[in-house]
Amino acid sequence: ATGSNIRTFFEGRWHDGDVMVMRAADHGSWLGTTVFDGARQFDGRAPDLWAHCDRVNRSARALMITPTVSTDEMVSIVRDGLKAYDGNTAVYVRPMYWALDGGDLGIVPKEGATGFAISLEVIPMAPATHTSTLTRTRFRRPVLEDAVVDAKAGCLYPNNARMLAEARAKGFGNALVTDAMGNVAETATANIFMVRDGVVFTPIPNGTFLAGITRGRHIANLRADGVEVVEKVLTFADFEAADEVFMTGNMMKITPITAFDEVSYQHGPVARRARELYWDWAASA
Ligand code: PMP
Repeated sequence: ATGSNIRTFFEGRWHDGDVMVMRAADHGSWLGTTVFDGARQFDGRAPDLWAHCDRVNRSARALMITPTVSTDEMVSIVRDGLKAYDGNTAVYVRPMYWALDGGDLGIVPKEGATGFAISLEVIPMAPATHTSTLTRTRFRRPVLEDAVVDAKAGCLYPNNARMLAEARAKGFGNALVTDAMGNVAETATANIFMVRDGVVFTPIPNGTFLAGITRGRHIANLRADGVEVVEKVLTFADFEAADEVFMTGNMMKITPITAFDEVSYQHGPVARRARELYWDWAASA
């Protein structure tokens, strides 16, 4: 095993290091039937851990992979593994399933032939000052008829990888991604919000993008704080006219956006408040 900042749960126990888990004949290794989720422990808390474990089970079913660990059981395995770290260490928690060799070379995963692992990795949280920038991309989110977009599936991410690589090559941090109708969906790695005249807007989930757990948490926190949050069809033009833009996801929780191609934004008060609200909520979760 390698990777000194990694621990792996595999075949019933925790191992130090990054353990090899997949075989060449596994369905997941040649057909890409893998699903994962990402949660975080920081400041000694793992906010929404249950929701992330539950989603990996739902993602598995969407790919016809039989989930073999109940959500409650998965939460307790993760909590046990996290005992190895002190409260000051920020850890990325990645539970995953893949389809095993079904024995018949069939492309439909075999019922119950499932691999499961959890990877814990030390990854610091970004400082409150971190920001990013966005650019347009021609690559799009598929619809459910084109791909298994109702799952956090590994096989969807090569499309996101080319968006991100293209954006980076142009000198931007991330890409603002549309669906096939041309409406803004999300970024390559996170959900997207914009603020105009004090009102917060975010694309309405239409099945083309992941309606993230962190997204939902920020919406609830902002509304409880008296901020109006509207889920709505949004275009690039809406984002060009925004006062503030920020993206949300489990890894960094919130990232203010300071530019969208030629348009600049302030790292503004709503993103600062949303961050504060998230951290306060997490401390009591
Ligand atoms: N969209 C994409 C493409 C993502 O990879 C992520 C990160 N999981 C998100 C959105 C945010 O989802 P969540 O807040 O549930 O992590």
